[in-house]
Amino acid sequence: DASATDLAVHAAEARSAHNYRPLPVVIASAEGAWTTDIEGRRSLDLLAGYSALNFGHRNPRLIAAAKAQLDRLTLTSRAFHHDRFADFCAGLADLCGMETVLPMNTGAEAVETAVKVARKWGYRIKGVPPGRARIVVAAGNFHGRTTTVVSFSTDPDARADFGPFTPGFDTVPFGDAAALEAALTDETVAVLIEPVQGEAGVLVPPPGYLARVRELTAGRGVLFIADEIQSGLARTGRTFACDHEDVTPDMYLLGKALGGGLVPVSAVVSSRAVLGVLRPGQHGSTFGGNPLACAVALEVIAMLRTGEFQQRSAELGAHLHARLHEMTGAGLIEGSRGRGLWAGVDVPPRHGSGSAVARRLLERGVLVKDTHGTTIRLAPPLVIDRSDLDWGLDRLTEVLTRS
Ligand code: PLP
Repeated sequence: DASATDLAVHAAEARSAHNYRPLPVVIASAEGAWTTDIEGRRSLDLLAGYSALNFGHRNPRLIAAAKAQLDRLTLTSRAFHHDRFADFCAGLADLCGMETVLPMNTGAEAVETAVKVARKWGYRIKGVPPGRARIVVAAGNFHGRTTTVVSFSTDPDARADFGPFTPGFDTVPFGDAAALEAALTDETVAVLIEPVQGEAGVLVPPPGYLARVRELTAGRGVLFIADEIQSGLARTGRTFACDHEDVTPDMYLLGKALGGGLVPVSAVVSSRAVLGVLRPGQHGSTFGGNPLACAVALEVIAMLRTGEFQQRSAELGAHLHARLHEMTGAGLIEGSRGRGLWAGVDVPPRHGSGSAVARRLLERGVLVKDTHGTTIRLAPPLVIDRSDLDWGLDRLTEVLTRS
């Protein structure tokens, strides 16, 4: 007999596009780091919505902020001012040590916004000849799924059959400062990188790389755009992954956890000089910067200001990486890397694919997702209990020992 889960999965597949391949679990409720499915089974969430759930499922502070706002005002559009907007922009700018905020909704929209702003800045401020602006990106990048953004992806699956593509991008190997230096021309307006490449398998660049990117871009009058949509907001043990090298880019791209796992909120955060190139009518979004989004993000910002989540991520992250190191020593995994409570784990090919390991973990009550063949990525909610993290890692050990 088909289980309730089988039936629900079948019903979903029957009427939805198959642009994802979800694991066979149908989640009905969640709290903190734990989910409960429609058959009442609890699972430990070690993915945290690709880092959108840094503060856990239904974080009480965030739910309270959202509920209070729902009872007052949810949407005005940017045709009018609303009373949460100024505080949100000031709070986020201050958290970033920057001047100016441009709110959008999804990560891909923030990236698109940055591309537009960098190009316009290049023409109006840097003096690049019309139509010639170029942006340097890194191989293996993941910045989202829109047409322009997949134009500079190096993943064949992300691009195939979606052309014609947007021109104007130059690709260099990630972590190679000399290659980046060689790619900069007088027509380069920006370097766009993830300080830690998330979807590529949680790839941390060599020490000194981000500082060198900062130096090179500053020296050539090129904007350094840090896509911290996945790496930012405490995930790596610091507020931003760039903080690990004391680097401040010209532009932060933020998303995911900025919406507290409640609502989509993204933002481009930069200087007045850069974002000031946009005039009324040249960019926007109906939902960008809406009151509900601002209320939730303001609470996220207040929580980040305490430093509590950054510290938790650093401490639990050290423990996570120590345990993964032991597993490598014991031959259970081929290796791991990461920063803070965030790791890419390479499983030996004898276990099949990363997705096969993810399925076996699901059977034992642990939710993870594979990336690129035999890598699984671990990004637990930062609120996870240490004992729960250990329980999840015990299940991973079990899965990799037995099969
Ligand atoms: N940039 C990075 C670094 C990401 O990891 C992602 C999503 O995984 C995005 C951009 C795109 O965000 P969204 O899925 O909200 O469009």
